Amino acid sequence: MFYESIREASMKIAVIGTGYVGLVTAAGLADLGHDVTGADKDGDKIKKISWGDVPIYEPNLEELLKANQKRGNLTFSYDLNKTIQACDVIFVCVGTPQHEDGSADMSQIEEVSRMIAENLNKYKLVVEKSTVPVKTSAWIKRIISLYKKSDKEFDIASNPEFLREGSAVSDFLNPDRIIIGVETERAKEILVKIYQKFQDRILITNIDTAELIKHASNSFLALKISYINLISNICEKTDADVELVAKGMGFDPRIGGRFLKAGLGYGGSCFPKDIKALTKIGEEMGVNMDLLKEADQVNAGRVKVFLEKVKKALWILKDKKIAVLGLAFKPETDDIREAASIRIVQELIKEGSILRLYDPKAMDNMKEIFPEEHYRLSYSNSPYQAIEDANALLIVTEWDEFRRLDLRKVKKVMANPIIVDGRNIFEPADVREIGFEYYSIGRK
Ligand code: NAD
Repeated sequence: MFYESIREASMKIAVIGTGYVGLVTAAGLADLGHDVTGADKDGDKIKKISWGDVPIYEPNLEELLKANQKRGNLTFSYDLNKTIQACDVIFVCVGTPQHEDGSADMSQIEEVSRMIAENLNKYKLVVEKSTVPVKTSAWIKRIISLYKKSDKEFDIASNPEFLREGSAVSDFLNPDRIIIGVETERAKEILVKIYQKFQDRILITNIDTAELIKHASNSFLALKISYINLISNICEKTDADVELVAKGMGFDPRIGGRFLKAGLGYGGSCFPKDIKALTKIGEEMGVNMDLLKEADQVNAGRVKVFLEKVKKALWILKDKKIAVLGLAFKPETDDIREAASIRIVQELIKEGSILRLYDPKAMDNMKEIFPEEHYRLSYSNSPYQAIEDANALLIVTEWDEFRRLDLRKVKKVMANPIIVDGRNIFEPADVREIGFEYYSIGRK
């Protein structure tokens, strides 16, 4: 029986869904020494990955994938039935996007649950790694029980993922905590064995708690970002400097300095949807969730605050040449899901501006939403090309490459020396000394 065999053997693990989380999870689990198959219903994606072509940009991911593929304990497949049948433990890493009303769309989770039911040829442990609302495990259990065609047993567990895009590989390999939500000893034993390398960082809870830890963590971080952005609005009406306010607050160990960065707010595939999903599930349970709603409202207003600065600098935006530096929702990723850049570009197109866009990694993804349009919208090969002849330069993502720009050279090639910095990457006094008109967030 499998339960006995896990004590001595390495486990056969399936990772279903090979997006940002699934790919890193598959490579990371293989690196821990397990026998892993990553599977996805997107056959093209699987073919690419199998050929060594990594479909996303994530530092060190390509190396980790290749090393483990070469060692022979990491393979990829688009045959989901076969993969599920062959494996003992299934990590579910499919997407949980948001519905229009903010609730989590659980259709991918349901689809995978049915597939597991249909392929339940031996005991399996089903591990939710996707971010899901509290109580999801009960639904997965019900679906598998309803659709299974055998009398084989299964367990459900929650093992939420905390990796951050841009440092996902190192986050997986050096986690600050491993949360394991279980309802049976059997599931606990398997997951503890999988993560035995990190046994000093494992917190074991029931499943509801584990599911809630993830949503509560992301919503708290979003709240922190909105809080400092709210404070930055007050700074802008006074002589206070938000960077120093945040620094001063951050010295207090009860607060901590991280996630106190005023700017264009949070984006990406997690915070915006997770705060809405927690709000929704809380409301469905009769809990007043106004605190989170307000935080999300503050976030929604960030692009408007930024564009007002652009208008303050340029007055009329029509036919103004604007260089947008940074399209990814944060540095070190090519992900543009819920990126501030999308709404900024949309608004500037509406205003009739001429746009020159640049990002070190995210331009291909952006082109799918905003294809090049002769003269009106183009993508540049370098920040300097984007800036040439521009009436203003906008900093939208805080890539290090932009911090290192030679600002004297930038000033020379721009039509007007105007910088609107949505991420406070420059020191106002330094930039102004070079001769720029400089607008940033929450400081004079
Ligand atoms: P993603 O959209 O990049 O990847 C999801 C993958 O699942 C896709 O490749 C898709 O083809 C595949 N898929 C969908 N339905 C499938 C099915 N029925 N069978 C097989 N494959 C299927 O999503 P992601 O960013 O990797 O996020 C996955 C989950 O992890 C989400 O719940 C997300 O909230 C959570 N999460 C994401 C991050 C992050 O930084 N991206 C961090 C922590 C947690």
